[in-house]
Amino acid sequence: MTIIHHPDASDWRGSVIYQIYPRSFADSDGDGVGDLPGITARLDHVARLGADAIWLSPFFASPMKDFGYDVSDYRAVDPMFGTLSDFDALVARAHALGLKVLIDQVYCHTSDQHAWFSESRASRENAKADWYVWADAKPDGSPPNNWQSVFGGPAWTWDARRGQFYLHNFLTSQPQLNGHSADVLAELADTARFWLDRGVDGFRVDALNFLMHNRNLTDNPPEEPSLTQRARTFDFQKHIHNQSQPEIMPFIEQLRSIADAAGGRHLLAEIGGAQAAAEMQAYTHGPHRFNSAYGFDFLYAEALTPTLVEQACLTWEDKPQSGWPTWAFSNHDAPRWISRWAAPQHRPAFARMAMLLFACLRGNIIVWQGEELGITQVDIPFERIRDPEALINWPMTLGRDGTRTPMVWEADTLGHGFTSGEPWLPFGDDHPALAVDRQEADPASLLHFTRAVIAFRKAHPALQIGSIRFVEVGEALLVLEREEGDDLLRCAFNL
Ligand code: BGC
Ligand code: MG
Repeated sequence: MTIIHHPDASDWRGSVIYQIYPRSFADSDGDGVGDLPGITARLDHVARLGADAIWLSPFFASPMKDFGYDVSDYRAVDPMFGTLSDFDALVARAHALGLKVLIDQVYCHTSDQHAWFSESRASRENAKADWYVWADAKPDGSPPNNWQSVFGGPAWTWDARRGQFYLHNFLTSQPQLNGHSADVLAELADTARFWLDRGVDGFRVDALNFLMHNRNLTDNPPEEPSLTQRARTFDFQKHIHNQSQPEIMPFIEQLRSIADAAGGRHLLAEIGGAQAAAEMQAYTHGPHRFNSAYGFDFLYAEALTPTLVEQACLTWEDKPQSGWPTWAFSNHDAPRWISRWAAPQHRPAFARMAMLLFACLRGNIIVWQGEELGITQVDIPFERIRDPEALINWPMTLGRDGTRTPMVWEADTLGHGFTSGEPWLPFGDDHPALAVDRQEADPASLLHFTRAVIAFRKAHPALQIGSIRFVEVGEALLVLEREEGDDLLRCAFNL
C-alpha cells in the first residue's frame, strides 16, 4: 500500500467536500447503475472544481433495500459497484488529484441479511444474541413500547424464531445494532480501522445519534399537535428515548482516538432530530470528539431566508473548545435546493447567489453532486419510484429519488455519458441542457462560476477559517462579515 500524507485535522477547516452517490455518478459497465471505476474515471471533474475532498455514500455489500444504507458486510464492496481493488484505485486516483476521501459508515443498523443478524435471530442464547435490540412482547402480544420508525410504522418487528421483537429505526430490513454491547462497538471500531488502514481520510457517520437507545425502553412522549399533516407515525412523538442517549460519548471519543492514531483524518457526524443543535455541539466539543457535524438546517427548508442563515450559523459558537460546523444545502436525502428555493425564471441568477453565499459560510461545505450544474429536482412518476421511504408513504412524502437522478456529463449522447445502458433513474427533462460538456464550453455557466467561487473562498483565510458576524438580516438583504487577521470581507446578498 502506498504511503499517503495525511495533514493535521485542523487543515480540514474551510474544506469543500463533494458528495458522490455511487449509484448515480458514472456507470462504467453499462448496467445502468454507477460504480467505483466510473467514479475514478470522472474524479478530475471534482478536482477541477477545486474541492478538497469527496464523500462517498455507501458502496458496501448490501441487498440495496435502502440503496446501501443497509450493509450486509462492512468490509466488502458490493459487486454492483466493483471490488476492493477498484476502491484502492479510486483512492489512489483521488489522492493523486489532491482529493481526500471520506467514506460513509453506517453504524446504527445493518441489513437483515448481515451474518450477524442471521446469528442473532437464531436463538436467545447464541454469541450474538444481544448484538441487536431484542425485546419481549407485552402480555397482549403488542410491541414492547410505542417507538416509531423514521420511515413510518412501528419501530418493532416480530421474529418468530426468537419469539421476540427487534428494533429498527428505519426499514424493517435495517435491524438496529445494540450500541450498548461492547462487542458491537469493538467490531465497529475495527471496521473503522480497516478502512483507515486502506487509506481513507475519514468518515461521514450516518445518523450517529441513533446508535444508542434507552435501555429501559421507555415510551416516547407525544409531540405537540402539528399544523402540517403528519405523513408518518414517527411525526407524532418526541424522540427522546429511542435515540440521543448520553452513553454514546465514550464511543465518539474512541473513534476520534482511532482517527488520531491514523493521523490527520476527519470525522463528520450526521445529526438529525429535535436536539440536533445541542448534540452537534456536544459531539464535536474539544479535541477528543468528532471534527465536525452537519444537521438539517437547510436540507428541507422551503425558502432560503436571511434569518435561516443567521440562525443556523449562530448555533455554532466560535470559542476555542467549540466544534467546527459543516453545511449542506441538499444531499441524497433532501430535495435539490434550486427547485425548492427559486422559481424557474429566477434559477440562473439565484443559483449563483446561493453558491456564493454557501462559500461564504463559516464551516466546511458539502456540494452535492450536480449542484455545480444547477440540475433540478426530478418529479419521478410512481412506476419509476425506487426509494423505499417514498413507496411506504406515497404520495405523502416527497421521496428521495428526485434528487438522486444520474449525473449528466454529455448533453447530446444517449445515456448522457452516465451509462451506455438504461439508467436506474430517469434524467430530468431539463438536465441535458445543463450537462457538464455544455457548461464546460460556456465561460458564463454555473459550473465555471462555481469553480471561481471555490477558488475565491480558498484565496481568503477569512472565508476558510475566519469569524462570522451578521451585519444586516433583513427580509431579503443579508450582510455578513468574515474576518481572519487582516483579511476582512463584507459579503452582501440579495436573497
Ligand atoms: C441516510 C439515509 C438513510 C438513513 C438510514 C440517513 O440519514 O442519509 O439515506 O436512509 O440514514 O441509514
Ligand atoms: Mg455499473
